[in-house]
Amino acid sequence: MPFGPPVPGLVAVDGRGWPAAVGPQGSAGDRRRAALIKICLIVVATALAMSLVRFGGEAFAPDRLAVPAPDGVEFQDNGLPEGYSYLTVEGDWVSRMVCGPIAWEIVGEAPPGGRTAVEDGVALMAQMTGLPVRPAEAVDVPAVELTFEFVSPEVIASRYRGDEYMEPLGLAEMRYGYGGITGAAISFKLPYFEAALDSDYDAAVLLVLHELGHAVGLDHVTNKESFMHSSAYLEAHITAADVAAFAAVAPDC
Ligand SMILES: [Zn+2]
Repeated sequence: MPFGPPVPGLVAVDGRGWPAAVGPQGSAGDRRRAALIKICLIVVATALAMSLVRFGGEAFAPDRLAVPAPDGVEFQDNGLPEGYSYLTVEGDWVSRMVCGPIAWEIVGEAPPGGRTAVEDGVALMAQMTGLPVRPAEAVDVPAVELTFEFVSPEVIASRYRGDEYMEPLGLAEMRYGYGGITGAAISFKLPYFEAALDSDYDAAVLLVLHELGHAVGLDHVTNKESFMHSSAYLEAHITAADVAAFAAVAPDC
């Protein structure tokens, strides 16, 4: 059939294995089909490229709760990694170097998912510090007691406003919770914690870790990737320096 018209539905294949219809010599239908195939290929390639950028890029941490090895972290004179400091009150460090075990419990009600987020947070703290951190009912020896409470912002305000420690630290403005300076008692502002839980479970666990950092005496850092940043920690992750800082406040003892 050397000079006959193109046979409908029959697509010739050239030497590279691609349909010959993509060439200019195809019929109008063939060209439309080729254009459609091209568009589909472009869409698929674009989607693939975008997913590579999202999952393969430096800025996106696929597992924000992974605990990296604290290799290569530089330490300062205060014994903490570069950029980290202890909470201070009137110039004095409020270091809470801890020797395990730590016994934790939730005081009062926890919102749905709240207990799991606290459990995951303290498990990560145990991993980073090497301390035995256990639910209070599982510890029958003297231990550092650590309590978590989920309360309304009004309760927190009435409890801490004007406190001799809160004012100099500007803690009255803190949004999600309090930890550290008040002792080993962490209070979360219930509606904000619930919002974090609803939108992003990892963020809620990072919120627990952030307050635990304060509970062991760590102040905020300027690195926005660290969960010890003052405001970006809900989008942060666990950095090698965070791990080193937690380990430093729980030295072998
Ligand atoms: Zn904080």
